[in-house]
Parts: sequence; C-alpha cells; structure tokens
Amino acid sequence: MSIVSRDKECIWHPFTRQKNMADPIAIVKGKGSLLFDENGNQYIDAISSWWVNLHGHAHPYIAEKLYQQALELEQVIFAGFTHRPAVELAERLLAILPGNFSRIFYSDNGSTSTEVALKMAIQYWWNQNQKQRNKIIAFKNSYHGDTFGAMSVSDRSVFTLAFHELLFDVVFLDTPTQENISELKNTMQQHASQTAAFIYEPLVQGAGGMNMYDPYLLNELLNTAKLNDIICIADEVMTGFGRTGKFFASEYMHKKPDIICLSKGLTGGTMALGVTACTDRIYQAYVDDDAMKTFFHGHSFTANPLACTAALASLDLLEKEQCLSQIENICASNLTCAAELRKSKLPIKDVRTLGTILAFEIDQGKKEYLNQVSTVITKKALEAGMYIRPLGNTVYIMPPYCIEEVELQKIYSFLLGAW
Ligand SMILES: *Cc1c(COP(=O)(O)O)cnc(C)c1O
Repeated sequence: MSIVSRDKECIWHPFTRQKNMADPIAIVKGKGSLLFDENGNQYIDAISSWWVNLHGHAHPYIAEKLYQQALELEQVIFAGFTHRPAVELAERLLAILPGNFSRIFYSDNGSTSTEVALKMAIQYWWNQNQKQRNKIIAFKNSYHGDTFGAMSVSDRSVFTLAFHELLFDVVFLDTPTQENISELKNTMQQHASQTAAFIYEPLVQGAGGMNMYDPYLLNELLNTAKLNDIICIADEVMTGFGRTGKFFASEYMHKKPDIICLSKGLTGGTMALGVTACTDRIYQAYVDDDAMKTFFHGHSFTANPLACTAALASLDLLEKEQCLSQIENICASNLTCAAELRKSKLPIKDVRTLGTILAFEIDQGKKEYLNQVSTVITKKALEAGMYIRPLGNTVYIMPPYCIEEVELQKIYSFLLGAW
C-alpha cells in the first residue's frame, strides 16, 4: 500500500476538513527551497512550510549540528538541570532581541509561547496584589495560536466557533489607522486599570490574512500602553528572524515590548521550540520569599537540547553576510513584483509587501476562508511546480531566504497570471 492510502486509514490532518478530503501529497525529500514528492515531482516551497523554514530544507549545517548534539544529549528535564545549548541560545537571543530583555523562558511551539506570555503578564500583577489587572487587550483579526488561552486572545472566527462560550473575554481593538488611532488610545486608557497586557502581532497579522499596518501608529498605541502601565506582548512567532526585512518587526517601532514570543523560524524551521522573553521588571515580580509567587508552568520538552541546537545553528546561518543579502534581495524583488501586480489587469486588490512577505486579495466579494479560491489556486500552483496556500482570498508568498532568483521569478510569473 502507498503512503497516501495508509495515511488515509490512520491520520487526522490539521486544519483539514475530513469529508471528501483531497489526497495528501507524500513528500519524500526536501533540499533548499524545493520539496520532492514520491512520484518525482518537485515544488518550490513558496510559503516556507507554514512560515517556519528560513534556510531551506534539510540544511547540511543544521543537520550536522543536530547529529553531533544527538550523540551527546538529546533531552533532559529542565527543572533542576540545565545544558549548554539552552544557555548559549538564551545569551545569544538576549543580545539581539529588540528591547531590554533579561530572561528567556522556553516552551515548544508558538501557541505555548503566547500562553506563557499571557500567564506571565497576569501573574505579574497577581504577585503584586493587583489581582484586578487580569484583562487582555488584543487586535481584531489577530491570531496567537490554537490552545485555549491563545484562542481567547485571537479574533473570534469560524475556526473558534465551537468554543466561543468557553473563551475568556478580551477587549478587541481594530488595527490602527489615521482615523481611529485616538479612539483606540481612549479605549485602551479606559480599560487600563483592569488590564494586564496588550498582545499584538507587530506590523503583520499573519493568519488573519497578512494584514499589514503602520509602524508609526502601532508605536503610538504602544506609547499609550506604556503610559498606562500595560504590559506589551509582541507576538513575533511569525515576524521574527528577518521576515519583515529587519531581524525583528519590533525594530520598526521606537517603543519596545516587555515580553516577546518566538517560534516558527527560531530553529530555522527544523525543530519545534518556543521562546518567551521578558524584561527584568517582570522577572523580578517572581523573585520572592513567598513560594506562591513562583511561575508554575512548564512542558516536558522545555528547552529540548536538539531544538536549542537547531536554533543556534539557524542563528549562525542568519548572521552570515550571505543570508542578510539574500533577505535584502527578496525584499527588493517583492517590491518590483508588487509594482507589476498593481499595474496588471488581474482581478486583485490591496497588493502589499513587508520584507520577504508579498500579499494581495483576489477581488471576489466577501473574504471567506471556506470558499473555493484557495483550493483552486493551491492546485494550479502545484501543477506549476510550487506550493502556495492562500488564506481564503488572500494570496501570499513567504519564501525561504535561500530561494534562488530563478525560483522567485517562477513564483512571480505564476502570481502575475498563471492562476
Ligand atoms: C503560527 C502562529 C502562532 C502559533 O504557533 P504554533 O507553533 O502553530 O502553535 C502564534 N502566533 C502567531 C503570530 C503565529 O503566526
């Protein structure tokens, strides 16, 4: 029996309607920006395998580091024990993170990194006897993960419909525009005395449809949050590690977060790992004689040595001159393609780019994830030798940094008409 038919007997895939499910494609190998299936077809991975891959698949440098580490230490409990990869990664992250961070808390994916951030912020106030400060402010259209806390601070959507009554209440703000910014600041101020934290995806709302908004206006909002002592949580799970053209999207703003969440590109897309970093002010609220002020949170695979090793190897590659110029090239090529898309007669609108991300809407009326556009475009892209997976009517690309210029041009030609 083939892998695909065996899969259909035993696997339940994420975000996938089970009835009349299209056959999954069995991938047998990855190399650079290419994926190879069992029938010998190859696909350019134009969305970095759900935004995680930075340096291409099966990168030999990361693989070698992993192999060496696996022979030394593959996993160890992280309460009462520590190890070099975790410490080294924390030191290196603290040196480059955008803000005045002092501590790294490890977990194992993006959702846990935001859960940790929320709990850290809420207990920060609880530890100081300000238990009323337990509300969260978030943006409409936001996405912070699929676990309950992360779902609660994400916009209510068709994906979360079954759970709405169980999700905690959140103050949702529109993303800022020139027109609404003063109203947003007012709302934030009104809720301040009961608010623990404000969580946001800086500059790009990923799963919400690559919705981009202005750094100056976000800075204004962060300023209001800071003036009102609201903890600012930057969810850089998607935007981190060069995606927006800077190492972190928070570098675009003058006001820096108090907590930052990382995952996805953290390990170059090789292993599951989450990081929640906080400032010393937050950390100090947990340093106390009272044992009840401990942060009682952890995961079995907290700071897994292999995952930390992959992250260190990915940082080595990211900090190379060659990788930085690859990122710059993608940014520049995206701008050129965006200009052509705007000039084209295609039924599209809102062409936008930020760094290595390029997105536009298919102008077909209502934005709706469950419609057919996404499926049709995904299929045509596969036939054209690339993997693109629109979010409803939002078509976007987010390639690995190692992508070759010819591969990038092939993707652009597809976007400019082949669908
Ligand atoms: C993907 C994503 C998450 C969730 O990460 P998982 O590893 O999929 O749990 C959280 N926040 C943002 C901004 C994301 O893009």
